[in-house]
Amino acid sequence: MQSIRGTTKLAGVIGKPLAHTLSPAIHNAAYAQLNLDWVYVPLEVPDEAGLRRVVAATGSLPFVGFNVTMPYKQAVMELVDEVSTAAEMAGAVNAVQISEDGRSVGYNTDGRGLIEALEVEADFTAADKHIVVLGAGGAAGAAVVALMLGRASRITVVNRNVEKAEELVERLGRHGGSVLFEVEELGMARDVVVGADLVLNATPLGMRTGDSSPVPADWVRPGQVRFDMVYGTSRPTAFVTEGRDAGAVALDGLGMLVAQAAIAIDMWNEGSTVKAPRDLMKKAAEAALDARMGDMEVNDGSGA
Ligand code: NAP
Repeated sequence: MQSIRGTTKLAGVIGKPLAHTLSPAIHNAAYAQLNLDWVYVPLEVPDEAGLRRVVAATGSLPFVGFNVTMPYKQAVMELVDEVSTAAEMAGAVNAVQISEDGRSVGYNTDGRGLIEALEVEADFTAADKHIVVLGAGGAAGAAVVALMLGRASRITVVNRNVEKAEELVERLGRHGGSVLFEVEELGMARDVVVGADLVLNATPLGMRTGDSSPVPADWVRPGQVRFDMVYGTSRPTAFVTEGRDAGAVALDGLGMLVAQAAIAIDMWNEGSTVKAPRDLMKKAAEAALDARMGDMEVNDGSGA
């Protein structure tokens, strides 16, 4: 842990609950390596009234920025001075930059983190690809925006509740230029899932030990890329294991978590030519995840 002095600047994550957040471990490891006189702390707030007070206070305190996680990624959009176009389209802010004069700008680094993780870990770029997104919530929205900006040729949003997928495509499709958008109900999506270049899990299925994959085990093709935004206690998830067993290239969401953190640090540390140390941050994330799983086994024996 770096030493805290009178000059130390603040960063942190606002959300609820935060007991299991990996972000302090990931960020503080990077700050120590970069010799940044910053410290990253969990900022759990109980409700939206608390969120309003905390976000307002960050402008008067020595914050370089902060992250926002569930359940406040949407609500914070109303509380910052400006929202980037990509975050506005995604409908969610997960990283806020604070300037010297206290002005706050909200960004979405989740989508960019996904693109970076796909490139680094699977040598996969979205351009001219057919991508299936499983889920139609906030994470799916951020992914669709990033994949659209990455010039995917075709994006199919597959969801249990097909109306929600339609709403997402209606909201984002008009920004998509030549991208072909489709929606499909989860139970009917076998052919699109098997045929896609990339299948992305943006549902929470896999977060709990014993969770099944969002799709049947045989909806996969050798050589296909599978990306699970979930990372956590049941590692690897069924979606990743079943993909690998069938010869797909399958990754979990830890690389994306690290990449979105690294992108936020590079943004807050603007002017520096030294980039956030992704490899070291990934090791810190894995160590924190192992410790979290150990704690859970000690606490309740379930690992959940
Ligand atoms: P959300 O807004 O609650 O959306 C969840 C989506 O998953 C909905 O479309 C929902 O379908 C679907 N879903 C939920 N349970 C399902 C089930 N049992 N079977 C099939 N579909 C189901 O959640 P979110 O904020 O988008 O987050 C989704 C996941 O992404 C979370 O696990 C989160 O931790 C992860 N995430 C990871 C990163 C990262 O850095 N790796 C970043 C952001 C999010 P219906 O509409 O039919 O209910």
